[in-house]
Amino acid sequence: MPIEQQPPLDALVAACHWIGTKGWCPATGGNMSVRLSGQHCLITESGHDKGSISAEHFLTVNLQSGEVDGGRIPSAETGLHTLVYSLFPTVGAILHTHSVNATVLSRVEKSNAVILEGYEMQKSLGGQRSHLDRVIIPIFDNSQDIPALASRVADSHATVPLQYGFLVRGHGLYCWGRDVKEARRHLEGLEFLFQCELQLRLLEAK
Ligand SMILES: [Zn+2]
Repeated sequence: MPIEQQPPLDALVAACHWIGTKGWCPATGGNMSVRLSGQHCLITESGHDKGSISAEHFLTVNLQSGEVDGGRIPSAETGLHTLVYSLFPTVGAILHTHSVNATVLSRVEKSNAVILEGYEMQKSLGGQRSHLDRVIIPIFDNSQDIPALASRVADSHATVPLQYGFLVRGHGLYCWGRDVKEARRHLEGLEFLFQCELQLRLLEAK
């Protein structure tokens, strides 16, 4: 069935399996969500391999309270998902991965952003029309205190608006789209661009 016609949870489960085959969420890391309405999203339950996850491993979270139905445990980083949904009413899906490229690039880059410029593949990101434009992907220092991290992300967004995603240093990428299909395209595009950026820096350092 074309992804546009799939129910949101089916599309998200398929995205998780695809991410698993890519190796972007090793050892049960990462978390994925899809918006159900203005009030709720579905998010991965903690501790499941994304490559073999199924529909019963998703929890319904209230976007305002962060509470989960049935007392089950959501992913530790649920607060970052609910933040992004509250900042962007048009966001329909969020993918958070722990890839090698996102992890390494966010450590190699010492400033507070990766700036992507000069790549044709920037056009994989919604609204980008030219390799001559600059795409800013902010980097936030990692923290186990998710409310504090979410507050830093929100403060930064107030001055430099987030667009497609952000990196958490030494940790991974959060990216999103208006639906699962667009979030997947943004994830694949950003992963490609991160790999280019790492290879370029390696060659330039020689
Ligand atoms: Zn994570």
